[in-house]
Amino acid sequence: MDQIAIGKFISQCRKEKHLTQAQLAERLGVSDRAVSKWETGRSMPDVSIMLDLCEQIDISVNDLLNARRINMENYKEMAERTLLEMREREEQSARKMLSLEWVIAFIATFAMLGFIMLAAFVDMPNWLRGVIICAGILIFAVGIFFALKIETEAGFYECPKCKERYVPDYWKVFWAPHINRTRRMRCPHCGKRGWHKKVLSKEK
Ligand SMILES: [Zn+2]
Repeated sequence: MDQIAIGKFISQCRKEKHLTQAQLAERLGVSDRAVSKWETGRSMPDVSIMLDLCEQIDISVNDLLNARRINMENYKEMAERTLLEMREREEQSARKMLSLEWVIAFIATFAMLGFIMLAAFVDMPNWLRGVIICAGILIFAVGIFFALKIETEAGFYECPKCKERYVPDYWKVFWAPHINRTRRMRCPHCGKRGWHKKVLSKEK
């Protein structure tokens, strides 16, 4: 507790209320010397008088002891709102990325099927057939690589055992057996294997 800072704060709040030291002293039933001592940090207001003092200069005891206006309710509300907004934004971008994953996987799959059909049904020399099939497989591989990269980095995976939410290593996701986006992996937090579900935000 910084007595000097508290003193300055009392003085500042008193002036904001347009009160002289003598006027404040009178309202509190103490001497002006007492008020002067508080304001210069030489002494603290007595506990019995503190509530009354705070009321006169329009602050809470919490403000007084911290030497500044805190207004805890507003502060908490603001912090909560900011957090909520941040989480919403984070979830929204994760959701967008995950839909992009579907689009990329879809295009890659159909491009490969298209190339293979072309090679199978159109009359052409065998070497060209080979090239077209290879190109189709290559497009598919590149597409799946990027789709999986998006899946790894958008949102988080949740361990069913300890509920830890984390972003895994790309290759862990790549090799993990999966059902849709739920993957069987080892939890980096508790070390247990399990089916880890995709979730959009870090917070529960
Ligand atoms: Zn775990």
